[in-house]
Amino acid sequence: MSEQLDSYYALRNEIDSYVDYLWDEHQNHMACKKGCDLCCLDFDVFPVEFDAIKKQIEKEYPEILKADRQKNDEGACAYLKNHACTIYNARPIICRTHGFPLVNMNEAGDEWELSFCHLNFTNVEDDYFDDENIFEQDTYNSKLFVLNKAYLEANPGLNYSEKDLIPLKNIMG
Ligand code: SF4
Repeated sequence: MSEQLDSYYALRNEIDSYVDYLWDEHQNHMACKKGCDLCCLDFDVFPVEFDAIKKQIEKEYPEILKADRQKNDEGACAYLKNHACTIYNARPIICRTHGFPLVNMNEAGDEWELSFCHLNFTNVEDDYFDDENIFEQDTYNSKLFVLNKAYLEANPGLNYSEKDLIPLKNIMG
């Protein structure tokens, strides 16, 4: 079971390093800071990510497992408290890329789309973004998908299909 969880942590480290690089590149345009929770929504994650996060929470934030679930607004993340993340070191990959310029293939599959938080990049020129300063979200999503598939194959008893997602808040019980 642990091989894919270790691979998940390695992928997460790789993403953290790239996000650090992006922060340096864009620091003059980023409004992201502690206290802003606009991105903190009630996310679902793949089983491999769910189990990796659960394992880390059990070690680093055991009090979370015993606490009553936060009575947050509908649609807000259950781990948000006083506008801050209570599982910051264990937060999922999606939370690590919030606010940055993300590139994804559109639903029709014929065009790349760029998105970022509207509080960031308020005064950049149209040609500001290029291949060297964006986050290719589909690339990393594909890596996570493959990793999750291997995890499910190695653990058939989990009984999930490869597209199943689990609400992150379920770690709290
Ligand atoms: S896990 Fe933390 S960073 Fe991610 S949405 Fe929840 S509170 Fe926000």
